[in-house]
Amino acid sequence: MRVLLLNPPSERTVIRDYFCSKTTKSNYLYHPIDLVMLSGTVAERHDLTVLDALAEGLDFDAALRRIDEAGAEVVVSLVGAVSWNEDRAFLAAVHAAGLRVIALGDIFQEDAERRLAEEPWLEATLHGFADADLLSYLDGDLASIREMTVRDAAGDPLSLRRDDARRRGGSYRVPRPRHELFPETGYRFSFSKGRRFATVLTDYGCPYPCTFCIMGTLGFETRPVDDVLDELDHLRAGGTKEFFFLDQTFGLPRARGLKLCAALEERGDLSWTAFQRPDNTDDELLGAMRRAGCHTLILGVESPDAELLARYRKGYDTGEVAAGVARAKAHGFRVVGTFLIGLPEEDEHSWENTLRWALELDLDYLSLNVAVPRFGTPFRKRALELGLCREDELVMDQAGATAALPTQVLGRRDIERVKRRLVRRFYLRPRYLARRLRGTGSLRQLGSELREGLALLRRNV
Ligand code: SF4
Repeated sequence: MRVLLLNPPSERTVIRDYFCSKTTKSNYLYHPIDLVMLSGTVAERHDLTVLDALAEGLDFDAALRRIDEAGAEVVVSLVGAVSWNEDRAFLAAVHAAGLRVIALGDIFQEDAERRLAEEPWLEATLHGFADADLLSYLDGDLASIREMTVRDAAGDPLSLRRDDARRRGGSYRVPRPRHELFPETGYRFSFSKGRRFATVLTDYGCPYPCTFCIMGTLGFETRPVDDVLDELDHLRAGGTKEFFFLDQTFGLPRARGLKLCAALEERGDLSWTAFQRPDNTDDELLGAMRRAGCHTLILGVESPDAELLARYRKGYDTGEVAAGVARAKAHGFRVVGTFLIGLPEEDEHSWENTLRWALELDLDYLSLNVAVPRFGTPFRKRALELGLCREDELVMDQAGATAALPTQVLGRRDIERVKRRLVRRFYLRPRYLARRLRGTGSLRQLGSELREGLALLRRNV
């Protein structure tokens, strides 16, 4: 079968992958990990093309032309709540051109049957990307599917969800992802120290239960270290030495994390960025990551409010955050702190504390997310119960270009205004800017940081 993996066009730069769609906060666009992971699986059995309309900067018409030229029979497309209205219009046009359309994205993590009933162009939805469900479906082997929503013989939605669909801490394997099928240019990442980088996943989901986040609902599994090394060595042989590991907490479980770091250190030529939890940053793991080439850690800080950390089940307190950030800095990492604002209990005073906390932690970068009622999360249930959102509001953006929720005391426009102000106050400090300029290691990196910085400020004027 001729299959095309698609990241559809959008008027904005959007990130749709890993069931967590949002607009880019500055200008970054990394490889859509769902399609990367599916590429190895699909290419084993089918004739595969990849089209990333965002990386290639294609508009609606140009993307349709490219799909036509590819001669595919089946399109497997990302969609996102952030761009749902654009996505459904585009994919309806793809379907009208005679192609079968299967899609995956955050919007289907709840009520997928209803979405199928509403969207006649949509043949089926995937609810994972690190398994063989797509192959089973294309073979007509519905009994082997672990988690998809399809149509029955009458065309009505049918949920196929095995009881053991949720991953339970074991291990999974996928054929080596086919990075070479993705565009060579068009992806950009400000933390990357090289022009060329690859996005890699060594696990799936997250074992932690933070109630606002989709990752904890996916379960958790890891890939064998040897499979990951095979993928990285293949990329190294092609000249890629810079990586963005999309694991939500790098290095779990611990023994596996240390083994992976030791193997990366042995290679001696790698440079990378990873996500980490502050309470998982002991000296042994940080030292191993640093020696293995990790230069930038993205740490979940979320809030200076201990009560909110507990209510949303973060599993750590502010003392652990401060200690984790300090340890990471002592090991020489650049530290990015991710924060969540716009929770129902918050007001403007809370966000002054957020900024004060970010400054006190002396972070290298601030990444502000705005609370969204993401499909499938406990937080969505709570937001609905509080009357802060409606079931039929499907479009949302965690990056906060537009706020999806009011708090109990402030409106959506207030949140957008405060978010823009916090970003400006963090980044436009003369001492901070001087430090950033001193910290750039090369002209290329300086150019990249300036471009990202200007894009960030344009989005927050
Ligand atoms: S916020 Fe981080 S640690 Fe918590 S569930 Fe999401 S990915 Fe996991």
